Amino acid sequence: MTKSQITARNDPDMTTSPDRYISTRGDAAPTRFSDALLRGIAPDGGLYMPQAWPAMPADATRPGRGYAEIAKTAMAPFIGDSLPPGALDRALDRLTKGFDHPLVTPLIELEPGLFVLELFHGPTAAFKDLAMQLVAALSDEALAATGETLTLLTATSGDTGAAAVRAFAGAKRIKLIVLHPLDRVSAVQRKQMTTVQADNVLNLAVRGDFDDCQRLVKGLLAEESLREQGRLSSVNSINWGRLAGQIPYYVSATAQLGQAATFVVPTGNFGDAFAGIAARKMGLPAAGFVAAVNQNDALARAINDGVYARRPAVESGSVSMDVQAPSNFERLVYEVSGRDAEATRAVFETFAREGSVTLPADLLDALRAEVSAVSVDEATTRAEIAHAHAAWGRIVCPHTAVALAAARRLDRNGAPIVALSTAHPSKFGAFVSDVIGVEPEPAPVIRALGDRPERLTVIENTPEAALAAVKGFAV
Ligand SMILES: *Cc1c(COP(=O)(O)O)cnc(C)c1O
Repeated sequence: MTKSQITARNDPDMTTSPDRYISTRGDAAPTRFSDALLRGIAPDGGLYMPQAWPAMPADATRPGRGYAEIAKTAMAPFIGDSLPPGALDRALDRLTKGFDHPLVTPLIELEPGLFVLELFHGPTAAFKDLAMQLVAALSDEALAATGETLTLLTATSGDTGAAAVRAFAGAKRIKLIVLHPLDRVSAVQRKQMTTVQADNVLNLAVRGDFDDCQRLVKGLLAEESLREQGRLSSVNSINWGRLAGQIPYYVSATAQLGQAATFVVPTGNFGDAFAGIAARKMGLPAAGFVAAVNQNDALARAINDGVYARRPAVESGSVSMDVQAPSNFERLVYEVSGRDAEATRAVFETFAREGSVTLPADLLDALRAEVSAVSVDEATTRAEIAHAHAAWGRIVCPHTAVALAAARRLDRNGAPIVALSTAHPSKFGAFVSDVIGVEPEPAPVIRALGDRPERLTVIENTPEAALAAVKGFAV
């Protein structure tokens, strides 16, 4: 076990270890990686965090290491001995085979000192593939070890469901049920979910909107009769496995660059950005982190003005970032408060109750030392798509444009700047072509969808209809 300089306050008597997980709310017994992975959320309502940050070996960013090798070094300490031998190797092998670039996440120079890290070479052409592929493979391994089964439920407005379906299709011990709003996801997103011919996946198209889907999932997760079959959980961005699976590409980017970078991360639930901060805690050289949000700017207001307040989310071109209560912000608050579960609980319980909380001054200073935040409005996002096309001959998705707009505001005399490019532009072709008058070339994985037959079940927007559909499938 790796001892750590950090002592988790809610667990003072135990040796701290990166393969033991504690809750940001301080009231959950330390548990293993496999359990944190399969549960998702901690039993006290908090988010799992490793008790300690493992130290990254000094040669982690040595040039020439492949993605799988980098990822193994970065992730193995979090897993410990909680999965069957070879599980991580098998998961990484599957991940890299599903990507259509030999570097997996290539770094591209746009102009001197400004780079994009392409995270969209996977099966659904968006960055969620990187973590979701690993979470699916590792969850199946964890269940094989205990003989259990798992039913996963998720509501999606498009991207998460697509990445989940691709990742979990064919898993032996997991059933995946995805609820999307009928006729309110793009044709590409729908096909990415419905053309997968796997018996362990059920696509439900709800006659309602995304919020209705979320409400139905919440109700189903509380349904005791569904638990009799086995474990019941949700695929969402608070799963520690998702976070762990996003750490390697920060290491890969730094290795490709050969020096420390400032990372500009297009941000919704703050999972992607927190993974970068975790990499730095492990010793990755990084000059800084900038969270770039769209017009849904709760995170930017919290960090810049010191008040974390909820407002209704507004629809944006960068739709996967339309989040007004970023779930992983809790992990950052916990970390920078010196892992003070009581202080963390106070912030998020007040936020949940009042819809708004003023952050204490010392906490705010500590937050600002880790990350700065920039909000980019719709007009600027569109202008950035046009700029990228005119200046670099490059078509970018709206999420990438938010990051690039924030990146170009930074002082260019410091470390090189790496903007994370989270989706292939053809996933958001209509928005992009409306700006530049050019339809992006489809990504190969999108072209391959073609006219394959689709499988989906349309249901009414009622708890009874959802439960009947799930029971018909899960039993
Ligand atoms: C999910 C998503 C994001 C935001 O990532 P978070 O981890 O939620 O901050 C950005 N871009 C795209 C394309 C996404 O799908």
